[in-house]
Amino acid sequence: MSEYKIDTRLWSTKAKNLTPYVPGEQPQHDNLCKLNTNENPYPPSPKVAAAISAELAEQATSLRLYPAPESDTLRQTLAEIYGLQTEQVFVGNGSDEVLALVFASFFMKERPLLAPDISYSFYPVYAETFGVELVQIPLRQDFSIDSDDYRQPCSGVIIANPNAPTGLLLSLEVINKLATEHPNAVIVIDEAYIDFARADDGQEVSAVSLINEHDNLLVTQTFSKSRSLAGLRVGMAFGNVSLIEALTRMKNSFNSYPLDKLAQAGATASLQDTEYFAQVCSDVIDLRNTMTAGLQQLGFTVLPSHANFVFARPPAGDAAIIAATLREQGIIVRHFNQPRLNEYLRITVGTAEQNQRLLDALGALAS
Ligand SMILES: *Cc1c(COP(=O)(O)O)cnc(C)c1O
Repeated sequence: MSEYKIDTRLWSTKAKNLTPYVPGEQPQHDNLCKLNTNENPYPPSPKVAAAISAELAEQATSLRLYPAPESDTLRQTLAEIYGLQTEQVFVGNGSDEVLALVFASFFMKERPLLAPDISYSFYPVYAETFGVELVQIPLRQDFSIDSDDYRQPCSGVIIANPNAPTGLLLSLEVINKLATEHPNAVIVIDEAYIDFARADDGQEVSAVSLINEHDNLLVTQTFSKSRSLAGLRVGMAFGNVSLIEALTRMKNSFNSYPLDKLAQAGATASLQDTEYFAQVCSDVIDLRNTMTAGLQQLGFTVLPSHANFVFARPPAGDAAIIAATLREQGIIVRHFNQPRLNEYLRITVGTAEQNQRLLDALGALAS
């Protein structure tokens, strides 16, 4: 790429001014301990590959024909599992695409969108892409959200819960309060990591349980993390039928077939293997707790994570140096070079072996 000279003369003003999101890198070499993009350490349910093979084997129809434009079977299966109507479910090519359609459908308005200043770094990118004014509300010193700071005129609020990159969980009481206080704004809860979250008292943590009470509440989720299907690109949104209809209209004004046949078949099969899913989530939570304890033993400060990653500060706060040193040993973690975050590392929970390799490497650095 670098050998070409890029000429932007023919680009639109929009294209010239974009600042695209930079995803965590996907380096390709052997024996790499890749703990930087929050992928699941376990493979997807074996039923996914079986369903995709079966779909491909439908010689007469399969890939020759267009897929179901509204992914009906997948949406019906999601509706059954989450106790909703099919009309309350939307699916897209990864939740990133769903979020893009959310910005276009609900936030391209006069009033600004509110989001925490530390959150998923794609939100400011979408805001710019769609010309949405984004007001970033500072988190408290301990990285928690103060819902009182959100009492201001807005077209909507978007919050990742658990938040990224902190892993902290916001209670349903607070989400309930936000939705009640903003009847004329769309409250979007991005639950990319919710399947790894557990309340201390065993209560429900997902805002999907509040959808029937608030017609302005939209919850997004993804198959990328808890279902080990980042490569298949499937995400979803749950909400009131009118919100879902807006998303469907926006989708059909952009791409009628965002989910191919293999993705629809694979995602549906993944949902049907409920036992496998529950096991993977609980195993990842166990691995996260072991990793947290190991890091604490090395003197790290670890925020209480409800996700499949931990956000941890090394004792000397020299996170950038540690990330660079780990990289030389083939261990990749994420470091954010920005105020308040730069003393921390975001470390994806890997397999037991990967986590041990990380802890051993950190231990050797410390001694
Ligand atoms: C990973 C992630 C997404 C995107 O998920 P995809 O379905 O893979 O596009 C969205 N939001 C947050 C907070 C994430 O961490």
